[in-house]
Amino acid sequence: MKRPVRVFKFGGSSLKDAAAIQNVANILRDFKDESLVVVVSAMGKTTNAMETVVEAHAAQNGKAFDLLNEIKAQHYRIMDELFPSQNEEVYAAVNDVFVEVEWVLEEPPHDNYDYMYDQIVSIGELVSSKIVSAFLNQMELPTAWLDARDVILTDDIFREGWVQWEQTQERATKLVTPLLEKPGFVLTQGFIGSTTENFTTTLGREGSDYTAAIFSFCMDAQDMTIWKDVPGVLTADPRKFENVTLLDRLSYKEAIEMTYYGAKVIHPKTIKPLQNKSIPLMVKSYINPEGAGTYISDEVEDNYPPMVAIEGDQVLLQISTRDFSFVAEHHIRELFNIIADLRIQVNMMQNSAISFSLCVNDVDDKADRFAQRIEQDFKVMMDRGLELITVRHHQPAIMEELRKGKIVLLEERIKDTTIQMVVKDVPVMRRKKVPTA
Ligand code: ADP
Ligand code: ASP
Ligand code: MG
Repeated sequence: MKRPVRVFKFGGSSLKDAAAIQNVANILRDFKDESLVVVVSAMGKTTNAMETVVEAHAAQNGKAFDLLNEIKAQHYRIMDELFPSQNEEVYAAVNDVFVEVEWVLEEPPHDNYDYMYDQIVSIGELVSSKIVSAFLNQMELPTAWLDARDVILTDDIFREGWVQWEQTQERATKLVTPLLEKPGFVLTQGFIGSTTENFTTTLGREGSDYTAAIFSFCMDAQDMTIWKDVPGVLTADPRKFENVTLLDRLSYKEAIEMTYYGAKVIHPKTIKPLQNKSIPLMVKSYINPEGAGTYISDEVEDNYPPMVAIEGDQVLLQISTRDFSFVAEHHIRELFNIIADLRIQVNMMQNSAISFSLCVNDVDDKADRFAQRIEQDFKVMMDRGLELITVRHHQPAIMEELRKGKIVLLEERIKDTTIQMVVKDVPVMRRKKVPTA
C-alpha cells in the first residue's frame, strides 16, 4: 500500500553545529519508516555570511576569498566532528560545491547583481544538504539526496523567483515519487530553484519553509512540520516580548495574516499552497520534539488572544503629484505597475486627494529605485528606520503599551480584528545643564 507522504523542514538554527545535526538525526529516527521528504536550510547563519561574499565580490575589495574560506573552514570543522572516520565522499562532494563558487569569484563580477547573488548564496543549502544526508546515512537512516533545482522551476527573476507550478508539479511527480517508493528519506534543499536555462534562483530570504510547502503541495502530503527553536507559534516574538503564550491551533487565515505582517516564525508564502490542498501545518520545537506545538489547519477558531507582529526596517513613502492632479484618479495604475515590477511588498497604504502613502519593507535599494522611477511626475518624501506593528484581536491595554515611546505616523483599522501602525521612536530629549553663574 502507498504510504502517505510527510514533509519536514529544518531551518538554519536546527543545523547550526554538529550537536544540532545529531539532534535532527535523533528526531528523524522516530520517523524511520515513514515516507518523508526532509527540506533543509543552510547551516546557522551561513546565508548571511554568503551575502558578505557576494558584496565583497561585487565591490572587488579583495576580501571575497577570505570570507569564503572562513565559511568553508566552519563547515569543515562541523564535518570533522560528524565524520570522525573522514568520509571521503562527503568531503569531496562539499569541496566540489565550494569550487563552483571559487570559479565565480575568479571571474569579474556579473552585471546582474541578483543573478550573481543567487549563484553564490545558494551553495549554503547545497553544502548543508550534502552534509546532513551523509550524516543520516552514517547513522543508518538511509537518505537519498535530491537536487531541489531539478524539481522547483522558477521564472528568471533572481533573488525572488516565482514558482512555475505546472512544470514543478510534473517534475516532482516524475522525480520524487519513485524516490519515495524506496525505503528511506528523501532529503533536499530549501530556498533554491532553477530557471528553464538551469540557472540557480532563490525564492527570497527565509524561503525554505516555502520550499517545504511546494513539496507538500506537489506530493499531496498528509501533513508538513517545521521544526523551530520555539515551542510553536506564539502570541508574539519571544525575543521581543515577555509573557507570550503558545497558540495551539490556528486557522490558515490567521497564520497568513500574522506571517504576512512580520511574524517571522513562518515564511509568509508557506501557508497558501497548504491551504489550497487542506494540508495541515505543524510548527514544533526541535528542542522539545514531544511538545504539541501549533497545529494550523482549515478549522476555524474564533477565540484568539491578542497577537502582535513587529516588522522592522520599514520605509514610509509619501508621494504627491507635481501637477496637483489627483493621485488615485490619474496615476494609480502607473504606481502599481512599478511596484509589481520591482516586486515590492506593500504593507500599508493610504491615499488622500493629492497624496499617497505607502509603507514598504526597506530591503536592498528597492524604495530608492521606486522613487527614482517616479520622480519626474511625483514628489517623494521618505521616512526610514520605521517599524510596522500589527495587532490582531487587539485589546486597549496592549495598544496602550505598544504606543508607549512611539510616534504613530500612519494607523489603520481593518475590520474589527486588526490594527496596524507605522511608528518611530519618540526622540529622547534631555535637558541641558544650564551653567550656573
Ligand atoms: P529557522 O531556524 O527555521 O530559520 P527562524 O529563526 O527563522 O527559524 O524562526 C524562528 C524564530 O522566529 C524564533 O526564534 C522567534 O524569535 C521568531 N518569531 C517571531 N515571531 C514569532 C512568533 N509569533 N512565534 C514564535 N516565534 C516567533
Ligand atoms: N538559508 C536561507 C536564508 O537564510 C533560507 C532559509 O533559511 O529559509 O534566508
Ligand atoms: Mg530562518
